Amino acid sequence: METGTEYGGPLAVVAASAEVLRHPEADERLLTDLERARAARFRREASRLDFIAAHLLVRLCAARVLGTAAAGLTLAQNCPDCGRGDHGKPYLPDHPDVHVSLSHTKGVVAAAAGHRLVGIDVELPTRDGNPPEVFERVLTEGELRQVEQHDDPQRAFLRQWVRKEALVKVGRATLDGMREVDLSGLPLTAVDGSPLRSRFEDLHLLDWDDEQRGATVAVVAADPPSLATAAVLGA
Ligand SMILES: [Zn+2]
Repeated sequence: METGTEYGGPLAVVAASAEVLRHPEADERLLTDLERARAARFRREASRLDFIAAHLLVRLCAARVLGTAAAGLTLAQNCPDCGRGDHGKPYLPDHPDVHVSLSHTKGVVAAAAGHRLVGIDVELPTRDGNPPEVFERVLTEGELRQVEQHDDPQRAFLRQWVRKEALVKVGRATLDGMREVDLSGLPLTAVDGSPLRSRFEDLHLLDWDDEQRGATVAVVAADPPSLATAAVLGA
């Protein structure tokens, strides 16, 4: 892959919310009025900060792809179902050639940006694990068998779940129809703990467990994604 500004597929980043918020370019004032109004609706301060961190991180990521400063970037969202702008697929109104995606969970955020379709999702394991009814709501029978036979069923479930959430973000699955997509043909574990690369139909998948933040991450994209946490955050 070429270095510098040459495009080599989408960039994906995962970080603790606190890491993003202490980045010198990550200023809450970069958010639009609508984003700030949405942030203000969170009852828990920690959730408000996760929302802000994700919305700043996606700007940092897109800025890296565009070779520009995060400060000049406006982020908007659009829901294809109801047409509202306070949820749904995020996009940059001033840069229709750049695709972006973001995700936030407790204390951890992820973002991706590239010149073609990209979706990212990050999840943390729950303390008691996900119950069987959640497995059954998300997984096909083939996936269920594969997950149950895995050394670490909870981790394997989380892997398939984040993949499906990322597919929802690129419009290739629905939240109500996760069992309509079968990923049982994809590997669940990388041999040496390094990021896992696979293909689903015409899409490229990048999966990894971020040990430092305890998170499971999936990226699905039209081009092979790259991990760019250090490049984007300078961490
Ligand atoms: Zn809607």
